[in-house]
Amino acid sequence: MSNSPSAMSGRKKPAPLNMVPEAPGAEASYFAAISDSPVSRAFSRKVSVHAGMGGVPVPREEIPALQERLRAGRGGRPAAAYVHLPYCENKCLYCGFFGGKYTENAGAVYLEALVREIELERAYCNPEAPINALYLGGGTPTAMQPDELLHLLQTLKQVLPLANDCEITVEGRIHNFEPKRIEACLEGGANRFSIGIQSFNTEIRRRLGRISTKEDIIRNLRFLARYNQAALIIDLIYGLPGQSLTDWEDDIRTFLDLPLDGVDLYQLNIFPGSALSSAIDTGRVPPAASLPQQGAFFERGVALMQGARCRRLSMSHWGRTARERNIYNPLAKKRADCLQFGAGAGGVLQGWSMFNHPKVEQYLQCCNAGEKPVAMMAAPSPDMSVVRVILEQMEFCRLNLNDVDAAFAGCTGRNGKKKDAHTLYAPLLDNWKKAGLVTQDGPWVELSLAGQFWQVNLTQALIGWQRQMGKE
Ligand code: SF4
Repeated sequence: MSNSPSAMSGRKKPAPLNMVPEAPGAEASYFAAISDSPVSRAFSRKVSVHAGMGGVPVPREEIPALQERLRAGRGGRPAAAYVHLPYCENKCLYCGFFGGKYTENAGAVYLEALVREIELERAYCNPEAPINALYLGGGTPTAMQPDELLHLLQTLKQVLPLANDCEITVEGRIHNFEPKRIEACLEGGANRFSIGIQSFNTEIRRRLGRISTKEDIIRNLRFLARYNQAALIIDLIYGLPGQSLTDWEDDIRTFLDLPLDGVDLYQLNIFPGSALSSAIDTGRVPPAASLPQQGAFFERGVALMQGARCRRLSMSHWGRTARERNIYNPLAKKRADCLQFGAGAGGVLQGWSMFNHPKVEQYLQCCNAGEKPVAMMAAPSPDMSVVRVILEQMEFCRLNLNDVDAAFAGCTGRNGKKKDAHTLYAPLLDNWKKAGLVTQDGPWVELSLAGQFWQVNLTQALIGWQRQMGKE
C-alpha cells in the first residue's frame, strides 16, 4: 500500500533514494561518528537491510518439486500468509508499489486466477500447522468489489488452516470503506483494517495524489470504528514534501483524538525513477525532509506516542488499545514461514525465499494452467539462524547477545573456533556506546532513541560484521 513492511514483503523493488543498499566492503560504515547529535550525525546515510537470506538461486527446473516439498513439510511453527492484490484506482506520487490501474474487468480476471492459486494449497494443508496471520496487501485490496472481497476471504478461510485467533488484515484506502465493503470484509472474517492515511493534511495529501480531505477521513474513520468489529490501524509518514514539524505533530494528535487501535509511523522513502523523485527534481512539489530533519520528526513522533502512553509494538508500530496485536509484521520481519499468493507476492518456507511471477500476464497463465506461479526461489544463507535472531530482536529495538550465541551454535569463525557474540561484537558495540546509539545491560543491547532512528543501519551492521569476521 505504501511504505509498509507488509507491502515490502510482497514486491521486489529498488532501494529508495534515501536508503542505499550496502556496498561490498562497507564495514567501515558500520562504525558511527561520535558527536553531540547522534540522531543527525551518527551515519551519513541510511542503508536498506540486505539480509542476504536467499543467497543461492534455485535452478528454474528444480523450483516446482522443491516448493511442493517445502509446502508439504510445513510444520507447526508460527506462520503467516500474504495475498497480493496489485491494482489501485490511481497512482500516488511517492509510490513504489503501484501494480496497475484497477478496472472491474481486470479485478475480476485477477481474482479468478488468485482463487485458483489458493485452491492449489488444499493439497498441502496441514491442520497441525495453523496460520497465525493472514494479510491482504497491495496495491489496494479495497479497490475490489464487495462480493469479490467476500469470495476471496471465504476461499482463504476454507482452504488455509487459519488459527482460531488468526489475525486477518485487509489493507485499504479510506474512501473505499463504505458499508457494503466493510460488511463484506467483516462477513469474510477480517478482524483488522490497515488504512494508508499517510497524512491528514489535505494540501499535503493532494500533492501526493491522495483523494480524501482531512474531514472526509475523520468522518469515515469514525464511521468504521462504530462497527466495533475489527482493529483499526493507520499509516502515517513523516518527511513528506512541504510537511513541517507542526504538520507532523497535528497528524499524530489527530490520530490520538480518533477511536483507532494502532498506528505505523514511517519515514518517507523516495524510490529512484519514481514520480515523486522527478516531481521534486523539477520543482513541481517542494523538497522532502533532509535526513537531519527526518531525525527531528522521528524524535517528536516517539515523544508524542510515549506521552500518550501508547505501546511500542515494533520499531515503527504503536498500539493504542488492547485490540491491536500486530502479529503479521513481526512474523514477516523475522522470516517466519509465509505462504504467498498473488502476482509478485513473496513468501518464505523453512528459510527458502520465493517470489511469484511479478507480471500479471505470466501470473494469470500459470494459475489458469493449474500451476503454482513461483518464478524465483533462493536457498537460505548459511547464517540464517543468526540473521533471524538479529532481524527479529532489532525490530523490537534490542538484541540479546546470548541468543545470538545460541544461534551461532554450529557456526565457526576465525581459526575454526566457535563464534562468540560478546567478543565478536565488542568493537562495534564500544563504538556505538560512545556514539550514543546503544546501552548495554549484561547480554542485553538496547537501542537509544538515536539508535532507533538508525536501527536499519545497526541491523545491517550486525549482520554484515559477523559475516565479515567469519571470513577472516
Ligand atoms: S494506493 Fe497509492 S500508495 Fe498505495 S499502492 Fe496504490 S498507488 Fe501505491
